[in-house]
Amino acid sequence: MAIERIIDTSLHSDDAEEVIEITLRPTTFADYVGQDHLKKNLKLAIDAAKIRSEPIDHVLLYGAPGLGKTTMASVIANETGTNIRITSGPAIERAGDLASILTNLNDGDILFIDEIHRLGRTVEEVLYSAMEDFKLDIMIGKGPAARSVRLDLPKFTVIGATTRTGALSAPLRDRFGLIHRLEFYKPAEITQIIVRAANILGSKIHPEAAQLLSTRARLTPRIANRLLKRVRDYADVNGDGIIDVPITKAALALLEIDELGLDPGDRNLLVSMIDNYGSNPVGLNTIAALTGDEATTIEDFYEPYLLQIGFIERTPRGRRVTAKGYKHVGKKNSEIQEKLI
Ligand code: ADP
Repeated sequence: MAIERIIDTSLHSDDAEEVIEITLRPTTFADYVGQDHLKKNLKLAIDAAKIRSEPIDHVLLYGAPGLGKTTMASVIANETGTNIRITSGPAIERAGDLASILTNLNDGDILFIDEIHRLGRTVEEVLYSAMEDFKLDIMIGKGPAARSVRLDLPKFTVIGATTRTGALSAPLRDRFGLIHRLEFYKPAEITQIIVRAANILGSKIHPEAAQLLSTRARLTPRIANRLLKRVRDYADVNGDGIIDVPITKAALALLEIDELGLDPGDRNLLVSMIDNYGSNPVGLNTIAALTGDEATTIEDFYEPYLLQIGFIERTPRGRRVTAKGYKHVGKKNSEIQEKLI
């Protein structure tokens, strides 16, 4: 991504940012706001595993970035009193990398694999038997002298996270006993997350300001926390540090975040699609070419929320802007008719 966007749901490598994310991360089910359906199912799985003195089944969490997948994995580890080892699909380059991670686990440990859909084919195959039988098949030596050895592994739990289940191969998906989708949060839940984060950061926020901010956070906790931090900066510099409605409005205007949480990047995407294709379907790569973003950025960061609020829709022939999307960027639907004639 060329410019850092406030609505960017990825975690930046910036140290200060990362430390704050970790500080704000809930550690128990009670602290973890929302996702009630998911919490109920996970609590049941944890209780059942406790009764049987077994580790919990492998869990696959999917949903847009910033909705709390990593956080939920650490909550599970905390609630079950187990260790968690955090890694990601792209970080495990070779089967050997995975073998060394697996052989260093202990019974009951959790292995969290973020972006699990980005695991390479050979690594994935090693993971199958590890997840299914807790065995590791490795090849020792090369050429005619090569032989396969089977090692016993500790009984561990994989928690996989992905933004797209569709990108996961069927055999890998089948190895997960629990597959759950994280939903976008309700505005009231986002308000609660903002108030909680403000408390942890030691900032005073008026309830109306928290509510206003919650309508701009794209129903996503990571964005809510990030917006809060920017508004807090604004309040410290331009006020007495207290976050009230006027300060919040002024900070949001400076960030060019509109009343629905869209930033100039989103509006540019909608306008580019309308100007070039009207309300006709457009392929992902074409949209990427229009906005200058990577196709994956569009798929992971812009699109989920724009789909959620009904500004674009997916058709078999691509994405198209809806009447609601047109209205939001101040374009008239009739413009397409004129273009087509
Ligand atoms: P993901 O792994 O889905 O990209 P994370 O788990 O990293 O998202 O969540 C991003 C941040 O949002 C966390 O650091 C945490 O502070 C906050 N967060 C996520 N889910 C919740 C929640 N349910 N309640 C409170 N804060 C949350």
